[in-house]
Amino acid sequence: MSAMSSSSATKATTTEATLSARDGGYLRQAIDWSRTARERGNRPFGAVIVSAAGDLLAEAYCNTTETADCTGHAETNAVRLASPHVSREVLATSTLYSSGEPCVMCAGAIFWANIGRVVFGIDAVSLRTFRGELAVQRDAELSCRDVFAASPHPIECVGPALLAESRAPHVGFWQV
Ligand SMILES: [Zn+2]
Repeated sequence: MSAMSSSSATKATTTEATLSARDGGYLRQAIDWSRTARERGNRPFGAVIVSAAGDLLAEAYCNTTETADCTGHAETNAVRLASPHVSREVLATSTLYSSGEPCVMCAGAIFWANIGRVVFGIDAVSLRTFRGELAVQRDAELSCRDVFAASPHPIECVGPALLAESRAPHVGFWQV
């Protein structure tokens, strides 16, 4: 269990969480989808949802540019894929892996889906160094951990992790 997993601190941290081989493998799968997103002209984010039994419940990438839907974030897309077909009981013991720290909207979607665990790659604070000051690129500066801490059911949160790998798809992408 990572020392980062139970933190609800709002302070920025770039201390990497140490992942199990299983968590690392699925997070790399999410990072692969972030590269796909970029190749298709979207912002480079990917997400996968995996059950406790190891079933891959959803794979998604950010498609906001392709769809012109500003809510088409990878994690929310993954929740939309899994939620109609997977019970809340299964989702409660599932993990959502995200190439980047979930935003406020995606943290809300994760909460509503009853997903019990999140593992993410690059953290929101590090992402802001890429996003710069352009209004359409800036995110609401509320940590997903603060959203999860407000949940009546526990949502474990592990990250940042695999920072070098998760930040690579962002290099040279964002306009500043
Ligand atoms: Zn989001």
